[in-house]
Amino acid sequence: MDPLSAPAARFWDKPVEQLSREEWEALCDGCGKCCLHKLEDEDTGEVHHTNVACRLLDLKTARCADYRYRKTFVPDCLRLTPRLVREVPWLPSTCAYRLRADGKPLPDWHYLECGDREEVHRRGVSVVGRAISEILAGPLEEHIVPTRDFEQS
Ligand code: SF4
Ligand code: SF4
Repeated sequence: MDPLSAPAARFWDKPVEQLSREEWEALCDGCGKCCLHKLEDEDTGEVHHTNVACRLLDLKTARCADYRYRKTFVPDCLRLTPRLVREVPWLPSTCAYRLRADGKPLPDWHYLECGDREEVHRRGVSVVGRAISEILAGPLEEHIVPTRDFEQS
């Protein structure tokens, strides 16, 4: 790799606005929580979390099955930016983007800290083993989960 384009050491400690595109992409912990459907109460605006996953989410790995071309299949999939991270209220408290945008450190189970991408699953932070695909789920209203499940870390 060209040393000039290689990520800086502990780049994740930098303010999010100073991250390169590659560094920003690398911040994701791979939990898959943002790929679960949410329901918004029309009257109160309250967001309810569900265990129903986007059709493109690989439930065994919690990774998007076609990240590069995902918008072809899921047009409303969000591409997070530092500004957007501060605006969307439903990102989990464990989300690396939310943590760093708030100036908080990454947790010890994050692969950038521990060097192991599987740790997020072992520690029960990711959706692996906890989600069902929207293809099989039926009505979202039947899959609402307590917020604490979504926030688990
Ligand atoms: S919630 Fe945040 S850290 Fe987890 S998969 Fe989504 S963007 Fe990545
Ligand atoms: S398209 Fe991919 S990244 Fe977007 S919500 Fe679905 S699984 Fe997640």
